[in-house]
Amino acid sequence: MAICSICSYEFESSDNAFATQVYRRNGIIVTVTGIPATAVCPRCGNAILEWQVAQQVETLILPLFQWEDTYTLPKPIVTITFPEHAPLAI
Ligand SMILES: [Zn+2]
Repeated sequence: MAICSICSYEFESSDNAFATQVYRRNGIIVTVTGIPATAVCPRCGNAILEWQVAQQVETLILPLFQWEDTYTLPKPIVTITFPEHAPLAI
C-alpha cells in the first residue's frame, strides 16, 4: 500500500510505474516522461520517486534553467523522454 502525499489516496503500488513530471523555473518549462517511479497516484498523478532517481533528473535538467535574461530567443519548452522499456540500473 502507498499513500499519496498530495491527496492522501491509498492505492496498491506497482513495480512498473513511470512518472511524468513538469518542472517550471524562471519561465522555462521542462516536461520529463518515463521516469521510473516507486508509485504513481492513480487519482492525482503525483509520483513518488527514489531519492537518487529524483537527483539524476535534477542534474539532467538543471542546465536548461540557466537561461540568461540577455538571450534574445524565447524561453524554451523542453520535453525529455526516458525509454520505459529500459531496465533501471541500480
Ligand atoms: Zn494523489
